[in-house]
Amino acid sequence: MAAFGTVFMPQMSLAEFKDAHWTYHNMVSSDRIELHPGAHVLHYSSTCFEGLKAFKHADGSVHIFRMDQNIARMQQSSRLLALPEVDSALLEQMIIDAVGSFTEQVPSPPGSMYIRPTHIGTEPAIGKAASPTQQSLLYVLLSPVGDYFSGGIKPLKLLIEENGSRCAAHMGMIKSGGNYASALGPILAARQQHKADQVLFCPGGDVQETGAANFLLIDDNQIITKDLDSSFLHGITRDSILTLARDLGMTVSERALSVDELIERAAKPNTEAALSGTAAVLTPVGSLIHNNKTITVGSGEGGPVTEKLRKALNAIQWGEAEDTHGWLTRVN
Ligand SMILES: *Cc1c(COP(=O)(O)O)cnc(C)c1O
Repeated sequence: MAAFGTVFMPQMSLAEFKDAHWTYHNMVSSDRIELHPGAHVLHYSSTCFEGLKAFKHADGSVHIFRMDQNIARMQQSSRLLALPEVDSALLEQMIIDAVGSFTEQVPSPPGSMYIRPTHIGTEPAIGKAASPTQQSLLYVLLSPVGDYFSGGIKPLKLLIEENGSRCAAHMGMIKSGGNYASALGPILAARQQHKADQVLFCPGGDVQETGAANFLLIDDNQIITKDLDSSFLHGITRDSILTLARDLGMTVSERALSVDELIERAAKPNTEAALSGTAAVLTPVGSLIHNNKTITVGSGEGGPVTEKLRKALNAIQWGEAEDTHGWLTRVN
């Protein structure tokens, strides 16, 4: 199977904002867009994106998971970046048109169709370093993806980073390429120097998230994860897992978690830790590197609670369990 996100459907839906209004061009070829070299996004990073998935059920029907939440987050990201306001009805139509054009190509579970709405500032104006773009492109790319865990589930090793941060604190809740660019240097250094898989950003000792996933600590019947603030990305998988955990009778503690508390709890044999995100749902964390020492989390293997929660979410996505929260939108 090709690497995640390298195969694209040949068409995407595309809309253009110009002269203060949106024009929807419907489906266009997905292999290129035309951009002026002075486009605002190329100089001043006026860009945000989303990531969500469509799933194929056993009867052949195709369902998009929590589309309303991704649309709301894209509107929020666009607003916070002073990009043109995204019309939620337009974006919903664009996502449904794109997925609806390729229902046959949606892989069956454990695969899915990854959906990547993208919004970029296109006004050719390099003098607008401190003012918003008046033109933009919004498009919805599709990429069929296979089993994220096809090579087996390997618990991750995270480097605890207390000094650096993933991105500027006021940008954390924006899903934007700039934040990824900002996190890349520390992630590459952690791989090189510590053979870590990811960096767990903990500015000032406050456990936040990794470069592209939220962090959950599971201690017996309790899940502890940072409460929402503007410094980190409000994952929809995070919210879904916390909802399912409450349904299962677990205690959900959304509150500050310090590195000290994390390390103390990690030593207990039943503790589990996991990263949440659309790509993998929940990936177990096996160890933490702190001050050049490796700390094993619980057994060091993926634990039963992590697996139970991942399976509960997958079961809804795959149409094997009742969608009691109304998270799925049927396309065909
Ligand atoms: C997208 C993203 C997540 C995960 O969000 P989901 O909605 O669960 O996919 C977490 N952290 C960052 C920085 C992200 O960009």
